[in-house]
Amino acid sequence: MTSDFEAQLRAVSLRVTRPRLAVLAALRDHPHVDTDTVIALVRADHPAVSHQAVYDVLRALTDTGLVRRIQPAGVTARYEMRVRDNHHHVVCRSCGEIADVDCAVGNAPCLTASHDHGFVIDEAEVVYWGTCPECLTRPEEEGTR
Ligand SMILES: [Zn+2]
Ligand SMILES: [Zn+2]
Repeated sequence: MTSDFEAQLRAVSLRVTRPRLAVLAALRDHPHVDTDTVIALVRADHPAVSHQAVYDVLRALTDTGLVRRIQPAGVTARYEMRVRDNHHHVVCRSCGEIADVDCAVGNAPCLTASHDHGFVIDEAEVVYWGTCPECLTRPEEEGTR
């Protein structure tokens, strides 16, 4: 849905460029991928797009809020297009697999802190850690890295 991406870019005053469309398409099809994976996905279809171009696009998309950057402790930064709903993530300790977890109680309730200390709060970050189904069924020897 390229035209949809074009509208999203224009909505945040970003010029529509091939690398930007390619990065958005990669993130739509592969949520929670790291920078290297985005580069590989984009360059598979668009070999002319440089690594630096992908870095620049990811920064521009993150800065304008089209893309969300998540970085659980000890895991490389991941990117996703699902933004502004303050959803959380579950992370596999073995392989780094990440999945979306909706807020536990309805619509972004975690933003209502029990005590805000006078801060205006706009984001709550909850990370659930565990072991993904694939790692659970994998034999011990090759399961960890
Ligand atoms: Zn895993
Ligand atoms: Zn997510």
